[in-house]
Amino acid sequence: MATLARPTALESLVAAVGARAVSTSAADLELYGQDVFSVGRTPVAVFRPVSVEMLATGVAAATGQGIAVLPRGGGMSYTSGYLAESGDALLIDLGGLDRIVEIDPVDMRVTVEAGCSWAALYEALRPLGLRTPLWGTLSGSTATIGGGMSQNGLFWGARGGSIATSALSFDVVLADGTIMKTGSDTLRPFGPDLTGLFAADCGALGIKARVTLPLMREAAAFAYGSFAFETPDQFTAATSEIARCGLASESFGFDPFLQAQRMKRDSLGADAKALVGMMKAQGGFWKGLKEGAKVVAAGRSFLDEARFSIHTIAEGRNQAAADTDMAAIREIAEQHGGREVENTIPKVLRANPFPPVNSMLGPSGERWVPVHGVVRHSRALPTIEAIIALFEAHAEPMERLGVGAGYMFLPVATTGFLIEPVFYWPDAQGALHQASVERAHLAKLHDFPANPPARALVEQLRAEIIAIFGRMEAVHFQIGRAYPLGERSNPAGWALLKQVKEAVDPHHLMNPGVLGL
Ligand SMILES: Cc1cc2nc3c(=O)[nH]c(=O)nc-3n(C[C@H](O)[C@H](O)[C@H](O)COP(=O)(O)OP(=O)(O)OC[C@H]3O[C@@H](n4cnc5c(N)ncnc54)[C@H](O)[C@@H]3O)c2cc1C
Repeated sequence: MATLARPTALESLVAAVGARAVSTSAADLELYGQDVFSVGRTPVAVFRPVSVEMLATGVAAATGQGIAVLPRGGGMSYTSGYLAESGDALLIDLGGLDRIVEIDPVDMRVTVEAGCSWAALYEALRPLGLRTPLWGTLSGSTATIGGGMSQNGLFWGARGGSIATSALSFDVVLADGTIMKTGSDTLRPFGPDLTGLFAADCGALGIKARVTLPLMREAAAFAYGSFAFETPDQFTAATSEIARCGLASESFGFDPFLQAQRMKRDSLGADAKALVGMMKAQGGFWKGLKEGAKVVAAGRSFLDEARFSIHTIAEGRNQAAADTDMAAIREIAEQHGGREVENTIPKVLRANPFPPVNSMLGPSGERWVPVHGVVRHSRALPTIEAIIALFEAHAEPMERLGVGAGYMFLPVATTGFLIEPVFYWPDAQGALHQASVERAHLAKLHDFPANPPARALVEQLRAEIIAIFGRMEAVHFQIGRAYPLGERSNPAGWALLKQVKEAVDPHHLMNPGVLGL
């Protein structure tokens, strides 16, 4: 048992919600006191509510005693969004609030509790031929819908924008335990957009307890295309044009380093099985077997020579529609010097959209952390060039300390170009890695010793990249405690946001410090 800073306050919490919902075990305090990148101040306890009413009661009991509350969904972020900076804080694990409350195929909406994972919702909707328009992050086997709504993000359905834009309404628990519904479940906004106010707040304004999302029919047909490019200017021009035309439901790219990392992972062969399953569901048994065999035959060598690559998925109501979009994508890629290669990567990913979160460690067990910015199209190439120059300037210490870096790219709707540099370095795993990565996979990886100099270099480069993004007027998801929202905001808008924070959280006990508030 850890030493409790506030035993009396905890006794009132336990009296209000029951002892089973509160843990002070040393193992829990360690696990919940860290995210994928950082270790924060140890929370005084972990509270795991199993109903919305229990959540509200627990929040009121904690804040009534002056204890801050930190909401945590799947814990899959790396920007200290749920890590305490100072003072006594209660970590609230929303994983116990994971029910799908109602699927309504007549009025085309679904309500889930905030701790429901993207994968669980996708699996529940799939047999009904339904889906949400923005349908999760690649971490969705563990990451929650409440976490996605709270710190925003994107992957599946990125043609439609970022995740938090898609919510119809939230039920939010405020700092004093009030349960408040934002807007309406039919259309957003209903008057000034309260749903939008709580979206992407990283839990600064309240804790999402339930989320209502719109439904759409799942696509009936898919086409896949992958293209290799020699230079970043060809690659960015093609990526932007595909996004402007709205042709791909998802398109994403890798630089040479990340491509090599992706190819080193041992999941491609295993994923062929998932692919066969998907193809069977989509288009019959023989097509499934044939596609699975093609993936295995293509192996990992098809991108060995490529410098940059783009992977695209087109979806449609029928095969002709998906193929027509893919033909247009192909034409754009070729116009910009692209060469078509095996489409294994998008096919495998679509077949298994929510893989285990094993990629939170590098292929040999290195530590991993991404940093990202979303710039307008005209800034994509200058931003990439500035980051390449930064890495070149630090080539010697990076080489010496074993710090590797690559990037992933992803257009967002028609207006945004996400650039995500990713670092790998040999360093000790945390309790969260050990709890999240599959046992069998973990057993194959190195367990590196702690490596403070390499980590310090990663932290320095991450800060310099955030500064480059600042000069390029980038915006960010996952703001947490890592990106300077205040500095980048319009002063009048920032002042208004601070007043809103003051109004909903006058004692500064709702995730204090997150977003810089
Ligand atoms: C392997 C891997 C792959 C990833 N892939 C992607 C990707 O494809 N796209 C992407 O955008 N990101 C990705 N991420 C980053 C991250 O997983 C996502 O941003 C995800 O949305 C985090 O959700 P979570 O439930 O784990 O949130 P947490 O990490 O638990 O919390 C994130 C923030 O939201 C707040 N919060 C959580 N739940 C609530 C709530 N109910 N109410 C109020 N505040 C809350 C927390 O306080 C914190 O500030 C990936 C991460 C990993 C490890």
